[in-house]
Amino acid sequence: MDVRSLEFKQRSVIALDEPNLQKALKQGKAGFQGNRARAIDLVPEWQQIRSDAKVMKDHTLENLDYYLLQYEAAVEANGGKVHWAPTAADANRIITELVTNAEAKLVVKGKSMVSEEVALNSALEAAGVQTVETDLGEYIIQLAGEPPSHIIAPAAHKTKEQVSDLFEKAHGGPRIEDRPGLVTQARHVLREKFMTADIGITGANLFIAESGQHVLVTNEGNGDLCSSVPKVQIVITSIDKIVPTLEDAAATIRLLARSGTGQHISNYTSLYGGPKAADELDGPEQYHVVLVDNGRSTMLGNAFRDMLRCIRCGACMNHCPVYGNVGGHAYGWVYPGPMGSVLTPNMVGLEQTMDLPNACTMNGRCAEVCPMSIPLPDLLREHRRLQFQRGLGGKVARGTLAAWAAVAKKPSIYQTLTRPAVKVMSYFGGKSGVYKTLPGLGSWTSQRDLPAPQGDTFMAQWRKQQKSKKS
Ligand code: SF4
Repeated sequence: MDVRSLEFKQRSVIALDEPNLQKALKQGKAGFQGNRARAIDLVPEWQQIRSDAKVMKDHTLENLDYYLLQYEAAVEANGGKVHWAPTAADANRIITELVTNAEAKLVVKGKSMVSEEVALNSALEAAGVQTVETDLGEYIIQLAGEPPSHIIAPAAHKTKEQVSDLFEKAHGGPRIEDRPGLVTQARHVLREKFMTADIGITGANLFIAESGQHVLVTNEGNGDLCSSVPKVQIVITSIDKIVPTLEDAAATIRLLARSGTGQHISNYTSLYGGPKAADELDGPEQYHVVLVDNGRSTMLGNAFRDMLRCIRCGACMNHCPVYGNVGGHAYGWVYPGPMGSVLTPNMVGLEQTMDLPNACTMNGRCAEVCPMSIPLPDLLREHRRLQFQRGLGGKVARGTLAAWAAVAKKPSIYQTLTRPAVKVMSYFGGKSGVYKTLPGLGSWTSQRDLPAPQGDTFMAQWRKQQKSKKS
């Protein structure tokens, strides 16, 4: 997938004016936030599970080489094979070879963000292999020829009417407009693909070092059909998804489902760990796991290591006011929202993603809801610091920031300059207390009012309050 993150501003403007997208985003946000809050309220030990998971994951990352090798040995003892993919190109080459060696013509796929990251479908199509996405959301966007807009709800940007249009065109036949009818139609089409596919490819939500198993979490069961019907099973995942033990996996799953969809557990939470045994009737004859690095080893040694704790639950984007208004496609690559704004610059380069760290409002909600306690605003601030340090960005922005920093470091000058400015802005804000337009801030005021300052600076108000407390 091409990186189009430099178009963030233009894409955001288009997104804000797109009524279908705005409708879909509003519905999605309300559902995700409410469901998560209700699910977490029922778990009094939530903060304890969360902090234990952070400790476990930090320990795992500290000893990543040990656990990865333990996992490889366990998979091979189970009769499977681990393939190491340092880059996206390596992952595509390895999987394409596996697919062509099996003389496969049809591949069914479960949802995998790592496969989106490496653009696996394009590589397979170039090799003449038909690839069918089987997660309903992924299937919808595959028909639409679009990338996912959310990491757990890839078609979150589509309304029911848009899905009806897509299905009518792709499937022919009478137009269906009710949700159960649309799901049934997709199920019929996909069922035939499962039964005739040569290979099933899925991602893995976690993989377990001690047992050589991977955990697959879905709500539709499509991942399980991809894993157990075709003769060859391929799993593509990234090296940071490892946990040491089955208990660690169970604890992480408690966080994942509640944070993502607000479920206590997803409908299907399955463990796989090798090809079928000689005395088993069902299951694949071959089991391959492709472990993708693609920049994660570098993150292990830089300021962004905390990001490797991410379990891809989507809670940060479900609570982000920026994502909630512009949707995932504005971010211009695979990973949207706060986690994407941290990950994407690490994976494709800061030069390609200039606006992403700067789009953050620093309200901190993402870090509050992140089940793995990832300090997302701090990491975004670190990207901003690196941009400035490397001399990236426009001269005007850099000059403005340098001037602001020089003034902000001297409180007396800062207060002398800001106090009259605040008073003037407060005066012209008038009775309404908001600006509907303001020269130089048209991008802001075209979408929302700008609140006028209330009378005085924060410092002046603070001093006044302290004085009145003493008197
Ligand atoms: S950064 Fe945290 S909240 Fe966001 S997807 Fe990852 S684990 Fe979930």
